[in-house]
Amino acid sequence: MTDYEFSSSSLDPSGNDWEQLRTQGHRMLDAMIDNLATLRDRPVWQPVPDAIRTGFREAPVPRKGEDPADFFDHFAREVLPYSTGNRHPGFMGWVHGGGTAIGMLAEMLAAGLNANLGGRDHAPVEVERMVIRWAATVMGLPETASGLLVTGSSMANFIAVIVASRAQPDGVKMRTTGLQSRKLTGYAARTVHGCVSRAFDLAGLGTEALRLIPVDEAFRMDVTALRKMIAADRAAGLEPFLVVGTAGTVDTGAIDPLNDIAAVAKAEGLWFHVDGAFGALAVLSDRFRPALEAIGQADSLAFDFHKWAQVPYDAGCVIVRDPVRHAAAFAQTLSYLSREDRGLAAGAPWFCDLGPDLSRGFRALKVWATLSVYGTQRLGEMVDHCCDVAQHLAARAEREPKLELMAPVSLNIVCFRVSLADGNEAAQDSFNAELVKDLQESGIAAPSTTRIGGRLVIRAAIVNHRTTRADVDQMADAVLDLAARRSLPASG
Ligand SMILES: *Cc1c(COP(=O)(O)O)cnc(C)c1O
Repeated sequence: MTDYEFSSSSLDPSGNDWEQLRTQGHRMLDAMIDNLATLRDRPVWQPVPDAIRTGFREAPVPRKGEDPADFFDHFAREVLPYSTGNRHPGFMGWVHGGGTAIGMLAEMLAAGLNANLGGRDHAPVEVERMVIRWAATVMGLPETASGLLVTGSSMANFIAVIVASRAQPDGVKMRTTGLQSRKLTGYAARTVHGCVSRAFDLAGLGTEALRLIPVDEAFRMDVTALRKMIAADRAAGLEPFLVVGTAGTVDTGAIDPLNDIAAVAKAEGLWFHVDGAFGALAVLSDRFRPALEAIGQADSLAFDFHKWAQVPYDAGCVIVRDPVRHAAAFAQTLSYLSREDRGLAAGAPWFCDLGPDLSRGFRALKVWATLSVYGTQRLGEMVDHCCDVAQHLAARAEREPKLELMAPVSLNIVCFRVSLADGNEAAQDSFNAELVKDLQESGIAAPSTTRIGGRLVIRAAIVNHRTTRADVDQMADAVLDLAARRSLPASG
């Protein structure tokens, strides 16, 4: 039986007595702050124990309620220790932000407010407009640019592809007629993230309409090849409409030659989109801003606050230079969503005019909290710190006779591998793949893998503000130690 008494007429506490709930809330807050304060004492990641997994898979639908304290105990026992581990300084896999306590607290405020940012006239909408304006400003785009917060860069890139296709001659008409016989083709380096290909798929353009351009030895788009492919496609009767440059590729962190791509887009009359999922935020660093200046020429930009800006998941962002074209791609007129000149239904354009979602949460609050509490200067220093840690690891990989650096380090991603004496590439690939699993299961560090030039490599993305030089050294030590313990001896 529950100690908690909820009212029979609402889901709030009975008799409007909030004291027990307040006490429980404080317990939860203390537990999470304690947990954040002691991250280093625990493994980066540990597998979900079988009993707990089975418990989730077999749990019946709860018909009767349980005490919130019991619910929290469940969470603390069965979820808290077995999450991804991306808050931990030893987490270097994929590209995950580490989050902050400030972001966590802002999430609580946002949930307490329970605002719906699909539209209407209220302060939360103004907060989102403000953070979009701030984002446009730091990226060198006009203050008048349009944009919205979304789940992540996958959605942001998708929205940009839709806006770009509808900005074509008769593009808005395609909203009613569909693509029909149009042969719109887009261009991106072959190192482009898979979500751009998915965007072409979802937009009905087809993945074959995304043409992949070769890269140079630094894994940057070969712009001469881009020009040639556009010319060949035009000659074949296709309709080039979009070129995507990546600021920070997912494999190696390479930055495409955005300035040159912008020039091609301009000369060819193509929409210039930048996928800056994690890398775009390096504009906050004085060191990297020059390499990213051409983002300011983009027609649209996708990036994530939940990666390098450390805002808790999820917080992606899309910005479109031309607000009219942005709205023209999504706006509808529906009687049950009619806009008024005053009252709560004022405040057009609404965010539901700028993307596929109608109901939307208050993601902007945790972005606002992060930007205002830390300031862009401090966040830029954090970006520099991550890149310094990455350079430290790269130097170590070059120095260690048993390690091999596999790609240049332009930002915060280090690709390396343990090289084996016998040089059999297939054996070496599987050795490194198994080694990464060993490392993840050790709880010491969690890098991931990718393939560079066909070879499997250990990939460490330093995105977490908590990761230090000592942490990457510990990871490298563990790699060498686990490699020595595997039956195959490492070369030397
Ligand atoms: C992470 C990433 C994406 C996808 O972003 P999500 O937020 O995971 O949807 C797209 N492009 C690049 C370069 C990325 O690193």
